[in-house]
Amino acid sequence: MSVAGKCDVVVIGAGIIGAMSALYLQADGRSVTLLERGDVARGASQGNAGILAFPEIIPIPAPGIMKKAPRWLIDPLGPLSIPPAYALRIAPWLWRFWRASSPQAFRHGLKVQTAMMQLAAAEMQRIAQMPELSGFISNTGTLDLYDSEASFNAASHDWQEKAKAGFQFSRVGRAEIEQLQPGLAPQFRHAMYTPGGLQVSDPYEFTKAIADLAASRGVEIRKGEAVRVEPAGDGAIVTLSGGERLDAARVVIAGGAWSKTLSSGLGDRLPLETERGYNTTLPRQSFNLTRQLYFNDHGFVATPLSSGIRVGGAVELGGLDLPPNYRRSEALLAKASRFLPDLKTEGGTQWMGFRPSMPDCLPVIGSSKASAAVVYAFGHGHLGLTQSAATGRLVSDLVCGRSPAISVEPFRPGRFA
Ligand SMILES: Cc1cc2nc3c(=O)[nH]c(=O)nc-3n(C[C@H](O)[C@H](O)[C@H](O)COP(=O)(O)OP(=O)(O)OC[C@H]3O[C@@H](n4cnc5c(N)ncnc54)[C@H](O)[C@@H]3O)c2cc1C
Repeated sequence: MSVAGKCDVVVIGAGIIGAMSALYLQADGRSVTLLERGDVARGASQGNAGILAFPEIIPIPAPGIMKKAPRWLIDPLGPLSIPPAYALRIAPWLWRFWRASSPQAFRHGLKVQTAMMQLAAAEMQRIAQMPELSGFISNTGTLDLYDSEASFNAASHDWQEKAKAGFQFSRVGRAEIEQLQPGLAPQFRHAMYTPGGLQVSDPYEFTKAIADLAASRGVEIRKGEAVRVEPAGDGAIVTLSGGERLDAARVVIAGGAWSKTLSSGLGDRLPLETERGYNTTLPRQSFNLTRQLYFNDHGFVATPLSSGIRVGGAVELGGLDLPPNYRRSEALLAKASRFLPDLKTEGGTQWMGFRPSMPDCLPVIGSSKASAAVVYAFGHGHLGLTQSAATGRLVSDLVCGRSPAISVEPFRPGRFA
């Protein structure tokens, strides 16, 4: 495919999705330019919780979720918030989200996520076996905590689905909870333990390591902002903010939550929004956190990372431009210190990140209607790190003209037309 003076592939965006796509494309023999307007791995991929959440196959738009939402919205610092300044803008996305929560759409989403997570786990295992990357992935196990027996029971259907999909876990009571994570508040008497729960040592370090490995194998990492992508012959041209034009056989748009400007320019009207998430990273010695903890009734997690103890989550449907409201990070930390009474909450670093989110909570992986030479890879919402290697594989399958490892039909950009 290589043409003199023309790149095989330009990948736009060096978050985990773009970096992983570049690595896979290079391994498939393509000459790749990875274009990033800022620094590598400084978008959503910088500060996420670092969890490789393969068992998270249950679609977020589930039947009945819209009935629960008003309860969450009452608390402006609760697990879900919509700033008044953004309420009208987000309404069409919420309408699509509601439609995705029908029983039929839910069953479809479950089937699709199960196939995607199986591919994601298999591909991430290949990544973990690479000597340059193996040190970044570890098995700490996952403890899913519930406030009461009632809320544990309410989740039992989800756990049955996870068991059907082949994930292994067991119910644990107070004595085992205390052994698995000493220092949890006594209210936690009901939990599920997933011994195979994986995580990365730090999401920034991991994404950077993927990009560095790609670069060491010949991927060109280039600073620049793509302002337009347009089809040209059987390839495409990327125009940079300074006016320079990059001629490519294929272009992959992996700009995370910012991908819409480029996809709209190609005539694809995609309902990409952002679910803003907040966290605080505390010094490592703030608490002896042994493994990932999910506080299921409160929409946040705590993860032991090499960079510290990261506490966060929540969803704020506030778009790309409103300033962050770090009272959300503080509210999550205050809750965490109630649940882990010995947690020292001083000295932390607050962060807000933009999850790139589609209303059906499935990513967009597929060609633009303008040209098969332009492939989209964005919209992974809460699961971009987890599904990054699978996405790299699928992107490379599409670019190289192979039959994709799993059907990409459910991820096609045209599904919202
Ligand atoms: C609080 C929080 C916790 C999370 N926890 C987890 C977790 O535990 N596990 C998990 O799997 N996922 C998690 N996620 C989700 C995950 O972080 C995202 O899904 C993932 O990082 C998205 O990666 P990305 O590469 O698509 O986007 P990004 O990492 O945002 O990267 C996009 C890149 O594209 C660049 N870019 C955009 N437009 C252009 C342009 N025109 N020209 C050049 N460059 C451009 C941007 O500068 C950016 O660097 C979490 C997210 C948040 C916010």
